[in-house]
Amino acid sequence: MLMQDKVSLVTGVANHRSIAWSIARALDREGSRLAISYLGEREREGIDRIVGELSRPPLLVPCDVTRSESVDETLAAVGNEFGRLDSLVHAIAFARREDLEGRYTDTSRDGYHLALDVSAYSLNALVRAAEPLMIDGGGIVALTFLGSERACRNYNVMGVAKAALESGIRYLASELGAKGIRVNGLSAGPVRTLAARGIKDFPAMLRAHEERAALRRNLTVEEVANAALFLCSPWSSGITGEIIYVDGGYRMMGG
Ligand code: NAD
Repeated sequence: MLMQDKVSLVTGVANHRSIAWSIARALDREGSRLAISYLGEREREGIDRIVGELSRPPLLVPCDVTRSESVDETLAAVGNEFGRLDSLVHAIAFARREDLEGRYTDTSRDGYHLALDVSAYSLNALVRAAEPLMIDGGGIVALTFLGSERACRNYNVMGVAKAALESGIRYLASELGAKGIRVNGLSAGPVRTLAARGIKDFPAMLRAHEERAALRRNLTVEEVANAALFLCSPWSSGITGEIIYVDGGYRMMGG
């Protein structure tokens, strides 16, 4: 029971395929009390279908990270219910479909702003609102992808957003470390989810991973979730400001 007596907020659950859902299940399995935030009614319906799989009912709160009031209301609801927070999972990303294909060069100003607002600035907004509730410190983890540091075909503006997210992780970690709040990134290999479906030729990404990763296979979502659990838990108490790769050894391979 790694998360006994802990309270966790998991963002980014859209349906049973969401990486965030597997992380919520792992936190629940290890004894954490849970708050789950969702974007809108469609996502709420997805959650209602699966929420019975958890050992106890979570607090369900709507949260649109493009609106500061919505983020503040979400954390206020967590505070009212539990009075504290020990871990926060950021599993949110969005870019327009037309910006996830073709040339990055052609990304519009609006598309760029939207992708960076939802996928990168949202971590600042959530962490700032969560900080007063993290009275005993804790672990924050944000999901990222290799497209932040390599030019991955069709990942385009999302790669730039992930670079901003990863840099933000280091700044947040440096500022919040004195309070015992740790902030890390988890860079996952490709996993079939709703967000992944928005990337053109995503199956080609899965095939390339299977061929080139040291483990010669794709990852299970549970493998990603268990690493996120570790980063949320006291077992990673000495780790902050890092990007941990859960990619089956794809990134480190040479030719
Ligand atoms: P997903 O579609 O299940 O999750 C994305 C979530 O972002 C959804 O729940 C969606 O509702 C939420 N979201 C979008 N706009 C929002 C907004 N304005 N406010 C609040 N929430 C909003 O897909 P996923 O693949 O599980 O994505 C979770 C995270 O994992 C993302 O950051 C993604 O970039 C990252 N990631 C995914 C993969 C992959 O291959 N699937 C690999 C590495 C990293």
